[in-house]
Amino acid sequence: MDQLAAIRKQFPALHQKVNNQPLVYLDNAATSQKPEAVIRVVEKFYRTQNANVHRGAHQLSEQATSAFEAARSTVRSFINADSDEEIIWTRGTTEGINLIAQSYARPLLKSGDEILLTELEHHANIVPWQIVAEQTGATIRVVPITDNGDLDLPKFSTLLSSKTRIVSLTHISNALGTINPVAGLVRQAHEAGAIVVIDGAQAAPHLEIDVQRLGCDFYLFSGHKLFAPTGIGVLYGRKALLEAMPPWQSGGEMIKRVSFNGTTYNDLPFKFEAGTPNISGALGLAEAIRFLNSLDRKALARHERALMSRAIELCSAIPGFTRIGRPTAGASILSFQLNSHHQQDVGLMLDQQGIAVRTGHHCAMPLMERLGLPGTIRASFCFYNTLDEVELFASALQQIAAGGTFSSSEVVSDQAIFDSSPFGREIDDQEILTRLTAMGSWNDRYREIMLLGKKLPAFTAAMKTEQDRISGCESDAWLKISRDPQGALWFAADSDARVIRGLIALVMAALNGQQPEKILAYNVDHYFDQLQLTRHLSPSRGNGLKAIIEAVKNAARESANNS
Ligand SMILES: *Cc1c(COP(=O)(O)O)cnc(C)c1O
Repeated sequence: MDQLAAIRKQFPALHQKVNNQPLVYLDNAATSQKPEAVIRVVEKFYRTQNANVHRGAHQLSEQATSAFEAARSTVRSFINADSDEEIIWTRGTTEGINLIAQSYARPLLKSGDEILLTELEHHANIVPWQIVAEQTGATIRVVPITDNGDLDLPKFSTLLSSKTRIVSLTHISNALGTINPVAGLVRQAHEAGAIVVIDGAQAAPHLEIDVQRLGCDFYLFSGHKLFAPTGIGVLYGRKALLEAMPPWQSGGEMIKRVSFNGTTYNDLPFKFEAGTPNISGALGLAEAIRFLNSLDRKALARHERALMSRAIELCSAIPGFTRIGRPTAGASILSFQLNSHHQQDVGLMLDQQGIAVRTGHHCAMPLMERLGLPGTIRASFCFYNTLDEVELFASALQQIAAGGTFSSSEVVSDQAIFDSSPFGREIDDQEILTRLTAMGSWNDRYREIMLLGKKLPAFTAAMKTEQDRISGCESDAWLKISRDPQGALWFAADSDARVIRGLIALVMAALNGQQPEKILAYNVDHYFDQLQLTRHLSPSRGNGLKAIIEAVKNAARESANNS
């Protein structure tokens, strides 16, 4: 794409180093980066325009109100809605679906009614329906997918019946990239007498959306995946439906008149916008739309397809690479696994090279269950990514694959696990520091960490008890603690991710076999800082390492109190 360099220049966050490497941002399906124009609009609002909307009898408030309402019109035209009254500001897709479930569905549904979802859905399009089903006695039916990750269309037709009141489905799957043929599905659903909700969180950034042509009843998306700030999103609803719906949240702004004898609600769209809205977010979203509209969106889409094809081509040549899902129509989302490498290990090793991907269940646990996988690694491309970045990504993956597989550790029995752990005896934290800081490249250091992890004796399946489980978001770990006659604490731990085993080994080297007071006084943060691994302690990692350290310290605290 000719303008690629110019476009990239608009996104300041793309031009930074992460882990001493230029950032390669391939997590666009989680959230997109923001262009200068959007950042400027938000800043300008707080510098010179800040006032509450629809309230003050003063100049600033009037200006803020007109800008806010103009933003609504920009959104209306972006998705070709019929009127501004059909555009409701929300915090995002999640809030929009909750609003529909509680305000539209809850008064409507009766026992025996059905809500039709699909196996591709994000939790945001599952859980609000489960709650309303429980509240009303309605039943949830789920359209299966085919093995390549397409919606099973004949099954869709079969499951659709006169009992179906609501069909709610994603336009594009965030986990597999499947683009659903929504217009046809809307027609079928309408013929069956159901209304259709479309989760457009992944589609709005990549496809041109025309809600009238799609014919859907509700359409939702989030600003933050569309180059706009977080905390702003859009619910589109057909006016006739919105008018008949009761308010969801209540308070200021959504009323016309309040008295203790009764309250009259405001007109659309304000009826659904209780409280002070995210004004700067709405202005930022309108600016993001103007930014997109200033570009040739067809060319952007072509470039995204080129990135995706190149990624598939390069990755397919990597030994052990397995693509998850091969949808007939797909967006620029590549889900995969690397044989014998835990997804979290791959994510951490890519991160070490400045390459940001997502690993895990992608908030689509039912889909992962259907695929029989704990999760996948997902690279999601955006028009500001380059073919060079795709090549860097593929070659990093190639290196990880070539890094070889480690045979699994020796499995030992319950008590022996403490005796056979070398940490705290042969290797201590000083030795770890000397070894690891001497290694220059991320590759060597990670290999060493994983080799250390390999020395941790593995738990047998029976030893991995619920009681000993320490849950992280992406991998699980187990921790057992024993105290010797001298009062020292010994730890044995295991994890299904190799990098986590390695990180646990580092912790064990420092803390194992120590007296409780010493464990309590030990500064793990400082230790990881020296190892340049601090971010592995971040709670957002969800890797359970922080929880393990906490459990170790708690055990030491208890032990100290008891002695
Ligand atoms: C991100 C996403 C959501 C949730 O969006 P929020 O912005 O977190 O509310 C819902 N559905 C899909 C398909 C998504 O990708």
